[in-house]
Amino acid sequence: MKRLSGKVVVITGAARGIGRAIALRLAGEGANVALVTRSSVDKLAEVAQTIEAANGQALTIQADVSGVDDAKRIISETTEKFGRIDILVNNAGITKDNLLVRLKERDWDDVINVNLKGTFNCLKAAARPMMRQRSGKIINITSVVGIMGNAGQVNYAASKAGIIGLTKSAAKELSAWNITVNAVAPGFVETDMTESLPEDAKNMMLQWIPLKRPGQPADVAGVVAFLCSEDADYITGQIVQVDGGMRM
Ligand code: NAP
Repeated sequence: MKRLSGKVVVITGAARGIGRAIALRLAGEGANVALVTRSSVDKLAEVAQTIEAANGQALTIQADVSGVDDAKRIISETTEKFGRIDILVNNAGITKDNLLVRLKERDWDDVINVNLKGTFNCLKAAARPMMRQRSGKIINITSVVGIMGNAGQVNYAASKAGIIGLTKSAAKELSAWNITVNAVAPGFVETDMTESLPEDAKNMMLQWIPLKRPGQPADVAGVVAFLCSEDADYITGQIVQVDGGMRM
């Protein structure tokens, strides 16, 4: 039997990059997946088709995690379709980089609203059904930048540091219902998000990575799959870095 057979998983930001890799990996391990994206609906449909072509079950949901009502709808559509929710992967995230003194208030608000508030919204909406079931696993995607900071990313770093505090606090609150809450902190992973970085910035980051290669979405997906599995039942409130040793 596959490791996640019959488990129902919600993955936000599943159309591209790390979220897509997580969706394919978890579906490959037997999970029924609810896939969320804000605007990349065609790409999301392709991810669902790939899963269904391999005899998996996928539900697609267009929603903006920064809205409370959308977050509630993500969870209600999932439970209507699959009857329950076992695992939530809060992966949706954006960057709007600039130096502190040039950063516009709107770009601060947008990044905090999607990355931090979006994680809170989905976590809160999923918590009640998981509490009723007396089981659940929540995995939040943060970043090494939330641990070590990064020039030009005060908004993003603050949102990702906030996710770390949220993860540890929620882990303490929800432990009484047998719900674990952990975070995964990727380093530099090749996706659309990092593609637009200048070449010299990419080369500089590679120099910081002892394993001497950028991460791939599948590197992150494998660790998320472990945290979703019974092998991780006794792990909660942890921040697992997947960064090739970038920050140790
Ligand atoms: P990506 O390729 O840009 O994909 C981001 C995904 O999030 C897309 O599917 C996007 O959907 C979705 N999304 C964005 N805003 C949303 C919203 N408001 N509501 C719902 N979905 C939304 O990014 P990625 O590189 O895979 O990153 C995934 C996660 O890993 C993010 O949380 C990111 O901060 C984190 N991370 C990435 C790296 C890296 O090096 N790539 C490193 C550390 C952490 P639409 O296309 O529909 O907008």
